[in-house]
Amino acid sequence: MHHECGLIGLYHVDQAATKTYYGLYALQHRGQEGCGIYTCDEQSFEGQKSFGMVRSVLEDKVEKLEARGARNALGHCLYVSKENHLTSNLQPMHFRHMRAEFALASNGSLLNQEQLCAELQQNGAIFQSTSICEILAYLLVQNKDKFLPALTSSLQRLVGSFCYVILRRDKLYAIRDPLGMMPLALGRLGEGWVIASENCAFDIIGAEFVRDVEPGEIIEISANGLSSTRFAERQKSAICLMEYIYFARPDSEIDGINVHLSRFRAGMQLARESFAPSDLIVGVPESATSTARGYAEECGVPFDQGLIKNKYSGRTFIESTQTRRDLAVSMKLSPIHPLVKGKRITLVDDSIVRGTTSRQIIAMMRRAGAREVHMRIASPKMISPCFYGVDTSSYDQLIGSTRSTEEICRCIGADSLAYISNEGLRRAIGRDSVCDACFSEHYPTPLFDYKNIIDAEKERRARCHTGNEKDLEKTL
Ligand code: 5GP
Ligand code: MG
Repeated sequence: MHHECGLIGLYHVDQAATKTYYGLYALQHRGQEGCGIYTCDEQSFEGQKSFGMVRSVLEDKVEKLEARGARNALGHCLYVSKENHLTSNLQPMHFRHMRAEFALASNGSLLNQEQLCAELQQNGAIFQSTSICEILAYLLVQNKDKFLPALTSSLQRLVGSFCYVILRRDKLYAIRDPLGMMPLALGRLGEGWVIASENCAFDIIGAEFVRDVEPGEIIEISANGLSSTRFAERQKSAICLMEYIYFARPDSEIDGINVHLSRFRAGMQLARESFAPSDLIVGVPESATSTARGYAEECGVPFDQGLIKNKYSGRTFIESTQTRRDLAVSMKLSPIHPLVKGKRITLVDDSIVRGTTSRQIIAMMRRAGAREVHMRIASPKMISPCFYGVDTSSYDQLIGSTRSTEEICRCIGADSLAYISNEGLRRAIGRDSVCDACFSEHYPTPLFDYKNIIDAEKERRARCHTGNEKDLEKTL
């Protein structure tokens, strides 16, 4: 099971539950399906979790969680696909075993999950969820070493993109996978500490950013302070490019790079690479707003908010059917007619996955009287599935996997379409050590459970080359 999620852990902080709640509020964009908070003191763990947004689930529960005055807490917001929408997948998860008791929250995806799952079941594990939390928990408790060595060797068994935050009675751990594929930041809050997926969660609780958790690092925070060990050698990292382009909040800084500014530079780069003469630049809110501003700045064409996003709509992307996705896009976005009428519009968006958003908003622009609509995309063409966190795990979800840019342009009904180049994007972001598997088909880890998807696609392509072109036709 793969997903992006939001994590936050607090250690030795007054009103830990309340601050975790505020932190989760700032991380809401990373997961809107469910959320939860666990606190612990010397005696016991206590938690609340449910499906729903942070505010609706936790607002009334925080007071109760706060009642015992616990100074350590762990929070999570969940992004989960429809097929994994199980109560048992809600986090944090609380585990009690004769060797250890802890609450655990995670973000990411293990590519060898099936294999580990089978092995652990042979040894007596009974899984209740499809979450990568349970995998780590079972590895941990089946290991007879002390907690930290057991954790270290357990982590060495995992392949994929993952961050974990673990809360024990009087310890907090932060873990980031060996390639640092997902962000995780460390902050200071008075005498205490905070760990969060993005440092946009720090301001709201008055914490100071200290540094990013390093790839392959285990941070242990205890009454003795902070100590750092490694479970993997230092190597070239591979942060997910989509964190910068789409997932993260613009005010976050990931591995020293501000997200808004990286998007702005990507927009400038896009304009340099593929400017289309137009009268107005419009960003698809919210994720492409920074990018569209950069594009407009570079080409000197006015930027305006030609599209409005309904603040109360959720993510359209994870709706389960095409009809629902189409409907969700039109419920979410609408054009400001007088701005658009009679104009040549350049629309800037962060990505095209299925093409649903682009097709819908281009049609909207035309209905609102746009004379021309040019589509510019701040990520390269997505040609291959992501198994690490973005919810695009099969080829047939990706319009870019089988169609040329010209064909996609026709499918979405644009006058022209261009994607940013892979090199241009890296330069704009200012990082070379990235995961760009969805744009390049170069996966930074072994694929394990997912290798058959790649093999089947290769076979299909080979068949297509030998004449059966019909196979290439996929419906939008
Ligand atoms: P499409 O509509 O082409 O299937 O998906 C692209 C649109 O979905 C973009 O506007 C993007 O902002 C939005 N989106 C929502 N969730 C995701 C996600 O998990 N990954 C990507 N790449 N885009 C997403
Ligand atoms: Mg979007």
